[in-house]
Amino acid sequence: MKFKIVSKGDERSNKIKTTIKQYLTDFELIYDREEPDLVISVGGDGTFLEAFHRYVHRLDKTAFIGVHTGHLGFYADWLPEEVEKLVIEIAKTPFQVVEYPLLEVIIRSKTGESEDRFLALNEATIKTPDGSVVFDVEIKGEHFETFRGDGLCISTPSGSTAYNKALGGGIIHPTLEAIQLTEMASINNRVFRTIGSPLILPKHHTCLLKPIVDRSFLITMDHFTRNYTNVKSIQCRVAKEKIRFARFRPFPFWNRVRDSFVTEDDGQLNRLK
Ligand code: NAP
Ligand code: MN
Repeated sequence: MKFKIVSKGDERSNKIKTTIKQYLTDFELIYDREEPDLVISVGGDGTFLEAFHRYVHRLDKTAFIGVHTGHLGFYADWLPEEVEKLVIEIAKTPFQVVEYPLLEVIIRSKTGESEDRFLALNEATIKTPDGSVVFDVEIKGEHFETFRGDGLCISTPSGSTAYNKALGGGIIHPTLEAIQLTEMASINNRVFRTIGSPLILPKHHTCLLKPIVDRSFLITMDHFTRNYTNVKSIQCRVAKEKIRFARFRPFPFWNRVRDSFVTEDDGQLNRLK
């Protein structure tokens, strides 16, 4: 099996990277930057997002796993203390794979010449550096609302605990193939009206955003941002591709949510029930 390690770049993460690389090479696994079967991210969720985008062109062949060197992460859920155990698991067992849904975004330009397609693991957001964004929101080809405000966030289920959560979105279990739309400070008065609640769209329900006022847009995809002008439409839906996680032990999603946002102490949680 071929593997690759992506480190956050700090001293601690680099040290863990060196240890894992040494152990796995001792087990006769091959370090391969180009075509890894397994990508190990060492750092935080941000590092994992980077690793995902670096190998996004081969999602059908590459599985991912994350070791966290900071606080507990949603994607980086192995402790540095568990590295030896993890290495033995990787070397000895054919791993199980768990798949999570992704978001597909297609940005079309007015000239019709260019079309950009992206996949996001967390979310895409659409904002503007000049004033408010104003666009028609279509769902499944039908006009739904005209949005005016700071922007919109379209997140995946596993990204629902990130930016989406800060915007008041719900946390969605990643077995549900869906995307969630949340508003950023929509303008609501007698002239402008939006739904105001987060919307959860199932697979095949495409959401199309069509700018009404010509603006330059800041479109974020997970951890990176791009500037677009002459945007005709931004299309969002559940992607046909999925991310594959190498799973060596169960760590249920709701436990990760609890440990990150509520408490790491089971007893305390039980007392609250
Ligand atoms: P960052 O500013 O370091 O990320 C913000 C925080 O979100 C970090 O604590 C990061 O964890 C955490 N995070 C990332 N993915 C998560 C997930 N799926 N569930 C729960 N927490 C998650 O920037 P970054 O590390 O490059 O991450 C980019 C992400 O930041 C974006 O995809 C977006 O979701 C998030 N973000 C959030 C807000 C907000 O909450 N207001 C605003 C902008 C961006 P680590 O420290 O482990 O990296
Ligand atoms: Mn980060």
